[in-house]
Amino acid sequence: MSDKSFLSILTGSFSTPCADNPTVAMIEAAYRHHGIDARYINCDVKPDNLADAVRGAKAMEWVGFNCSLPHKVAVIQYLDALSEAAKIIGAVNCVTIRDGRLTGDNTDGKGFLASLKEVTDPRGKTVLLLGAGGAARAIAVELGLAGTAHITVVNRDPAKAEIIAALVRDNTGSDAAAMPWDGAVRIPEDVDILINATSIGLGDKDALPPIALDSLKKGHIVADVIPNPPRTHLLREAKARGCTPLDGLGMLVNQGVIGVELWLGKTLDASVMKRALQDIFGSAD
Ligand code: NDP
Repeated sequence: MSDKSFLSILTGSFSTPCADNPTVAMIEAAYRHHGIDARYINCDVKPDNLADAVRGAKAMEWVGFNCSLPHKVAVIQYLDALSEAAKIIGAVNCVTIRDGRLTGDNTDGKGFLASLKEVTDPRGKTVLLLGAGGAARAIAVELGLAGTAHITVVNRDPAKAEIIAALVRDNTGSDAAAMPWDGAVRIPEDVDILINATSIGLGDKDALPPIALDSLKKGHIVADVIPNPPRTHLLREAKARGCTPLDGLGMLVNQGVIGVELWLGKTLDASVMKRALQDIFGSAD
């Protein structure tokens, strides 16, 4: 009689639409690399079915799941506890199931921060953040918790930018302000890090956020959240001007690393996951 177990550990993702979400390829490449008998199942879950999907994951003893659009806020009502960051951000994209208890976390900003820390420590730095959507909110809160000195949030609708600035001021030690996005934004002299957290550039290698390109200076760190294509127009312009470019693949990879640490307590090899994404999207170099 064989003592081999035929029961895999189950993880996955609930979102819709989800056919273009590459996370399954990235995480399963790392599971295979480490010889971990686990699966990551990409599930198309419509809003009306979210409660059943969460109940199903618990019933089938999944160890955790990611939650992407449109479920990041709606999932909170089905959870037993939230991490500090998820509480402040008000959105969850990673749920851990342990002993039948569901805990929600938000790895969007943490994944970005881990990627940023590969090139600089944000502590004491000044940041210009473009966009005020879900990604910008998570990034701003994590930058605040990591000791960034000041964040200026720039958005077409300045009221949305002010909500994020207030969230940072009220919940972290960082200072923050909002700025309306009128025409080409000039990067102020004292800025260390520019972050594009808008959706400009997603699926369009020529799209460029309206910024005054001559205000990009050598020494700036220019980060983009866009994973596809990774070598965005903004990053190409930044590199040509001597800035340090940081692509959106690192954010995605680090979210995978953090999620699996929460679910399995194991740290996956980020380079294996990055290669899997580069095979899909091409390299940012
Ligand atoms: P949201 O829809 O919540 O926010 C989009 C933001 O982009 C808004 O602030 C919006 O401004 C701004 N925006 C869009 N078009 C323009 C434009 N033409 N000019 C100025 N501003 C514009 O999206 P998310 O925050 O959830 O996601 C943003 C991007 O981040 C997506 O492309 C997504 O792929 C990427 N992402 C990447 C991750 C990664 O791991 N690499 C993880 C999560 C997200 P306004 O409020 O004025 O409409």
